[in-house]
Amino acid sequence: MTRGPATTCRLSSVLAAGLAIGALVSSTFRSGDESEPELGTDRPPADLIDEMDLGQKTALTHGHAFDRNPLDRRQTGYVEPVPELDIPPLKLTDGPHGVRRGPATAFPAGVNQISTWDCDRLYAVGNAMGREAKTMDQDVLLAPAINIVRVPTGGRTFEYFGEDPSLAARGAVATIRGIQDAGTIATAKHFVANNQEGKPRFRAGSDVPVLRSLLQRGSRFVADSQVGERALRELYLPAFRAAVEEADVGAVMTAYNSVNGDYVSENAHLFDVLENEWGFDGFTVSDWLLGVKSLNGSIEAGLDLEMPYGLFYGLPLRLGLTLGSVDEATIDGMIERTLGQMERFGILQGERVGPSGVANTAEHQRLARETAADGAVLLKNEPIGDGDPLLPIDPDRVESIAVIGDAIDTATVGGGGSSAVSPPYTVSPLAGIEARLGADVRIVTADPTNGIDRVVDVAESVECVLVFVQDAATEGVDRYDMALPGRQNEVVSAVAEANDRVAVILNTGGPVTMPWVAAVPAICELWYPGMADGLATADVVFGDVDPGGKLPITFGARFDDYPVSTPEQYPGVATTVTYTEGVFVGYRHFDAHDIDPLFPFGHGESYTTFDYGELSVSPAETALDRPISVAIPVENTGDRSGREVVQVYVAPTEPSVPRPPKELRAFEAVTLAPGERTVVELTLSSDDFAYYDDSLADWVVDPGEYTILAGSSSRDIRASHPIRIR
Ligand code: BGC
Repeated sequence: MTRGPATTCRLSSVLAAGLAIGALVSSTFRSGDESEPELGTDRPPADLIDEMDLGQKTALTHGHAFDRNPLDRRQTGYVEPVPELDIPPLKLTDGPHGVRRGPATAFPAGVNQISTWDCDRLYAVGNAMGREAKTMDQDVLLAPAINIVRVPTGGRTFEYFGEDPSLAARGAVATIRGIQDAGTIATAKHFVANNQEGKPRFRAGSDVPVLRSLLQRGSRFVADSQVGERALRELYLPAFRAAVEEADVGAVMTAYNSVNGDYVSENAHLFDVLENEWGFDGFTVSDWLLGVKSLNGSIEAGLDLEMPYGLFYGLPLRLGLTLGSVDEATIDGMIERTLGQMERFGILQGERVGPSGVANTAEHQRLARETAADGAVLLKNEPIGDGDPLLPIDPDRVESIAVIGDAIDTATVGGGGSSAVSPPYTVSPLAGIEARLGADVRIVTADPTNGIDRVVDVAESVECVLVFVQDAATEGVDRYDMALPGRQNEVVSAVAEANDRVAVILNTGGPVTMPWVAAVPAICELWYPGMADGLATADVVFGDVDPGGKLPITFGARFDDYPVSTPEQYPGVATTVTYTEGVFVGYRHFDAHDIDPLFPFGHGESYTTFDYGELSVSPAETALDRPISVAIPVENTGDRSGREVVQVYVAPTEPSVPRPPKELRAFEAVTLAPGERTVVELTLSSDDFAYYDDSLADWVVDPGEYTILAGSSSRDIRASHPIRIR
């Protein structure tokens, strides 16, 4: 069977319809701010502050509007202008998956973006979001979200950049540079140790999220993360540090929770690290609504902006300034930081820097689609009997296919909460598959909510089956457990009994248990793919794109295999969450305790095969301050073009303190044609061998033997080389 004109036509009509709607919406979109007077001044912030009265000063320390209130200007946050001094307003909007205040391109979720392990792509997504924010008249994007995934069921796992600090740091730097090169201020959030939303007290459908949010333990609003300095430095802070030191991020959002007894918004130690150690000179902004807990605590620590209202920084601050109980010079310093970033990005001058803004363009939508496909992780693709693996399915050879799932008609645009984006259109999995296959292939659908018998009948009647399963993660509450909601496990098992040729497509925000893992030959994790869901799914399933993504999170077989299995560790006792596992989070824990994961960190198969050559490390013996070059040849030995992510880990041989058996330190994604060979060259520095010594309050590198490991996943090491540090 050949793919005839009908197929091409249907595919292009889905695209054309989408693009047409997108173009219509983008051309008719206006911010609604036309009535705002044109403001802007070239005067330096310090001069402006000299002329302000206490009311004007107070107004510049807090927000005045919240989220889509039609009476306000519909920002997620809004700092009022000071017309008397020609100071324009500051407009802030979510978030990590696209501009919340749409219609905007809905990019795949953060976990999908980082699964590409591709900094160029993350830069491109950041840049597109930055340009969309700009064209929607927004100044600050509340992104990226870079908390480390400590709890596999964490409600915002889908927004974050995984469990490894080096990977999250690279993702943060690329995204921030992309956003800021577009002329929009990026916000690294949520600083820091905001690793859970709160464990719900009962399993429930997604119909009562408010109730579930209220009835939870270890809520982010009150949880105190008791975390040692070493774990903070080695795991939870590095992405923020890189955001500041490498990407010069304009804003940092403080988390709701407290760390070691002090709320982050008033945590003097954390502010000291951020501003004095790392030299952060942008502004700090509280998380929304309950992010500030006291006036003096936050002012003393150095929080610059309260959002979205001035519960503490409004009237109470004004009173404090009038009565003299708050130091005016401190407030001047806070305002100067905010105005300083406004000046840096041309907002203060009324002439924003960077390229022109565009939104909902075909280019951005293509980027969303390509990112979703590149971040798809092929977890399993075993040969069926003596034959080939099921995936990719050849559209020219398949005659009948079943598409099964509760939500095959709905694109999984993202998870719940502040990161939700309203795109101009979406493509559901079914629409994407129909468009790609055309009229010659018999496509049968079944919705399991209408009964498993019908699902089984359908599965028996076709050549092969795609089963779509999903969770419903949201900000504000963690998942109750790692199981797929409802009867989805039962459905997959029943389908696997009925047909040998089954591929499970996961649309989950994080790891799930898979009791049927051995019963199905193919599993692909597409996460929350964004507006282009169905297009990207079809690209991967039918082999137009190699699903080259790699897991940024360990997929454990069960919750108790993770290092947060005691109530003290998660969700905490009363409000105290104790990070007793220290630096042993994610694969660091699985490796140290020799636990077999279901699918390891860094894992992801390809439709082709790659051979690794010998690893060379130069010099093989070195003093601390010299860079180390690592080179590894990789060859595509299959007959299709494909994508591999070469991962380099450092393993200490005889550590003087307990250390993870290996830690990711560098990586690179490469795309190779059949037979093509390349040499991946990466550089390590002494930082890559260091651990943080609590007693010295400093980083230490033990002299001695280490092993450099290169591989295709954390558990598929293909080459190693010793190195001696003098
Ligand atoms: C979230 C932030 C978000 C803010 C504004 C908060 O609840 O934690 O990530 O940027 O709301 O929507």
